[in-house]
Amino acid sequence: MTLKEYYQTLGISPGVYDFAIEIEEGLKERFKAIDQVTELNQMKVLWAMQKNKLAEAHFTATTGYGYNDLGRETLEKVYADIFKTEDALVRPQITCGTHALAVALSSNLRPGDELLSPVGKPYDTLEEVIGIRPSKGSLKEYGVSYRQVDLLPDGGFDFDGIKKAINEKTKLVTIQRSKGYATRPTLSVERIGELISFVKSIKPDVICMVDNCYGEFVEEKEPSEVGADMVVGSLIKNPGGGLAPVGGYICGTKECIENAAYRLTSPGLGKEVGASLGLNDKLFQGLFLAPCVVNSALKGAILAANIYEKLGFPVIPNGTESRHDIIQAVELGKPELLIAFCEGIQAAAPVDSYVRPEPWAMPGYDSDVIMAAGAFVSGSSIELSADGPLKEPYAVYFQGGLTYPHVKFGIMMSLQKIVEKGLIPWEK
Ligand SMILES: *Cc1c(COP(=O)(O)O)cnc(C)c1O
Repeated sequence: MTLKEYYQTLGISPGVYDFAIEIEEGLKERFKAIDQVTELNQMKVLWAMQKNKLAEAHFTATTGYGYNDLGRETLEKVYADIFKTEDALVRPQITCGTHALAVALSSNLRPGDELLSPVGKPYDTLEEVIGIRPSKGSLKEYGVSYRQVDLLPDGGFDFDGIKKAINEKTKLVTIQRSKGYATRPTLSVERIGELISFVKSIKPDVICMVDNCYGEFVEEKEPSEVGADMVVGSLIKNPGGGLAPVGGYICGTKECIENAAYRLTSPGLGKEVGASLGLNDKLFQGLFLAPCVVNSALKGAILAANIYEKLGFPVIPNGTESRHDIIQAVELGKPELLIAFCEGIQAAAPVDSYVRPEPWAMPGYDSDVIMAAGAFVSGSSIELSADGPLKEPYAVYFQGGLTYPHVKFGIMMSLQKIVEKGLIPWEK
């Protein structure tokens, strides 16, 4: 079979195929620029692995307490070198991104301290961690107060508002790089650096933490290179490269990481315990592949932006904007379109392609959410996935893709489902 015949066999009509290919043709220069960033990040990862003398012996499994797990210790050194931080905590015992963020926050804040978000509302699941929505064990229950300064309507920082919000109680500032389930722009590393400098000019000893989810390896620098004291993320997103089956990371100053480790395991034990259970090889290999996986995801996001923009939908970022994370939002405006889009992504998956996703009340979210993912690692969103809350503006958040051809096929399939259901005018 020829390529086009394979596409047809897999359910893509010639009209959808031709439309996508034509748009892809116009993106060659963009793609070349992404390849350059990838090359730098690939060398950065390789350099860190060689510098720390990564060896086959590091892949040996530890069990029980996991004392003297050389693989785990080397992995944490490699992460610290990549992120240019003093130390790192990279563990399969960190169950997800929310957990990593909760550990970073709760370990570095004490009763009476205040947490400030100068970039608006944080990611949905953090609302319960902080206590914006009441929850058992929230920071609020432990006497940590919270303040928030929204971005200006044009997406800029409200410097006056931030200055007023910083007070004698302010201990930690949380900055979310990616837009999450919001339609604000994602912050570039450069802008994060400006914000951190501003905050530190007012209160030098405040801890600046960046929720780095979905941002790793998108740019040549990470937020820890522009002043962040902690960067935090999930291993089933970018830095796990699709191979990490579980985990989270916190990279940062020695003191922040020590606090985090004492919270994750126990005061006094800290980083010394935590068996790696034979996962070290996957965490290393995934990290090694991560820059190229992020490359595929980014190219896919740009292709999706250009396809849906051409069809008249608002897309964030737009088709030509520079990228600071791998997420593409498309405001579909109607629940049927959101559902059809997700059905297409699901139908394109290597795993569970025959099931149809349905909206459900996911824990941690305040409205029904639809999620499409046919992933090798359950819930992994570095693998091609799409999700969105069933509420205005019915935006789908599309991300991931371990290989570019697969993302491209997924986008075609999302459009195919929309076209087949007659949800947009289509005469091609
Ligand atoms: C995914 C994500 C989280 C939470 O990570 P989970 O692994 O889903 O718990 C937090 N912040 C941002 C910006 C995210 O994208």
